[in-house]
Amino acid sequence: MVNNCSNSGCGKPLHYLREGRIFIFDAAVGSKEAGTKRLRRLEHYWLCGGCSETMMMVQDGQGMIRVMVRPPIVKEAEEIAPIVASMLAS
Ligand SMILES: [Zn+2]
Repeated sequence: MVNNCSNSGCGKPLHYLREGRIFIFDAAVGSKEAGTKRLRRLEHYWLCGGCSETMMMVQDGQGMIRVMVRPPIVKEAEEIAPIVASMLAS
């Protein structure tokens, strides 16, 4: 599980899951080694409240996960990003 904000320039410690935003990615995406079984490996990332206002996390075709500045149209960005915020209810 994450302990700090995933923005490398921030690194704020995670105290309250209510704050900020959790991003979940399948880290196995993009691994194409022949003969190996593709295992799902979910990785969790967190952006603190301040960072999640201006940034989001995305996974590219190679499976690289990176922090990105959010596009100006916030509503659309939220639909594109693989966000699972409700996982905290469990
Ligand atoms: Zn932060």
